[in-house]
Amino acid sequence: MEKKPFLRSIDGQEEFPLESLAEYSSHGVPLECIIPGIGGKKIRQGKTVWERFAAFFPLEPLDMALSLGEGDTPYLKASPSMQRFTGLSRLFFKNETVNPTWSFKDRGSFFCVQLSVLLGEKRCATISTGNMGHSMAAYGKRAGLETLIFIPRGTPSQKILPMLLHQGRVITLKGENFSELKTKVLTLSRGCGLRTVTGNGPHRIEGYKSLSFELAEQSGGELPDYIALPVSATGHARGVYKGFKELFHSGIISRIPRLILVQAARNAPLALPLKRGEDRVLPFSDFTTAASALITGNPPGGDAFLRLALDNRWLGETVTEEEIIRGVSLLASEGIYAEASSATVVFALKKLVKRGALDASSTVAAIITGSGLKNDPDIFGGLPLPPEMDPVELELFLKGTSS
Ligand SMILES: *Cc1c(COP(=O)(O)O)cnc(C)c1O
Repeated sequence: MEKKPFLRSIDGQEEFPLESLAEYSSHGVPLECIIPGIGGKKIRQGKTVWERFAAFFPLEPLDMALSLGEGDTPYLKASPSMQRFTGLSRLFFKNETVNPTWSFKDRGSFFCVQLSVLLGEKRCATISTGNMGHSMAAYGKRAGLETLIFIPRGTPSQKILPMLLHQGRVITLKGENFSELKTKVLTLSRGCGLRTVTGNGPHRIEGYKSLSFELAEQSGGELPDYIALPVSATGHARGVYKGFKELFHSGIISRIPRLILVQAARNAPLALPLKRGEDRVLPFSDFTTAASALITGNPPGGDAFLRLALDNRWLGETVTEEEIIRGVSLLASEGIYAEASSATVVFALKKLVKRGALDASSTVAAIITGSGLKNDPDIFGGLPLPPEMDPVELELFLKGTSS
């Protein structure tokens, strides 16, 4: 009989059972789910990506009653003007803004609640400044779990509101160093048998694989050469890579796309060393950036992640605050209202083509990770008020604009 799926640290040193509460090995190395016999898995018939690729997930069957309709998001060809702007004639957008709570985090939350419900857990928890907290609150409530969300001081009220409306128990952590608080909360939670998930957790990563499965289907014969995405805790990038790797091992795709990792220049602990070909995290602290979903200044397991990136010849690029805001406008012209963190990819691609690191004939899929609905209006520096008109003024205006 085949061995059951289990967790292993990515340096191969330690193993844990699949249901473990641990997110890191005793040496702080991230964990990954190993699915024995992955090479023999096959795609099935099914309505959703979860059903078609059911054999590739470590829990089977997945309970679709816990789904809010995450995944199976649109894959769109970039407009001619966007192609000209970036220099890429084969550019596509994977629009993750249409997920149930408006970001790709829903793919990971769906998988996390599967495990909690299966194990008969009554509670779940996360530490988040925004999208993950919102997502876990929605999925936790739907699954009948009490959901605790630990947030740092200063989290804007527009992000707390949906967490509260989904009846999450929101707790503000006293203290200033969010990375330290995270580690403390994870240790405390484990001691109390509470499953607290962060952006790098091995179970979330299983959910993120579903995006690669969709890309393999949606791109038809033209699998992208590159997948561009903004990166913070690294869970998303690791999940996307793992999804492709498993499809490759099962013979469904014949090559694995390379990743393009994008960060704000003000906080680029991974993108900057990668750009320079270095394998050590460059910690950032005391910064502010409009890319507020990308604020991990010193990602745990970052060195191991950089080695993975270098081994696979992934590309890194950074963008300025001005480029981030202009990226939001350019995506809006495509009909996609993106979160500032997601819009970082637009200028990153243009710059990579310009400096010759990215071939203009490459097929690139840029993941638009989250919706602009959660953008802080202040990042646009105040919007001009639309003009007011009475009917007479309106008539003059319309006559002036006709022809
Ligand atoms: C969480 C998040 C990211 C970063 O993903 P990581 O897994 O932390 O690297 C990027 N964009 C948006 C919109 C996010 O919410």
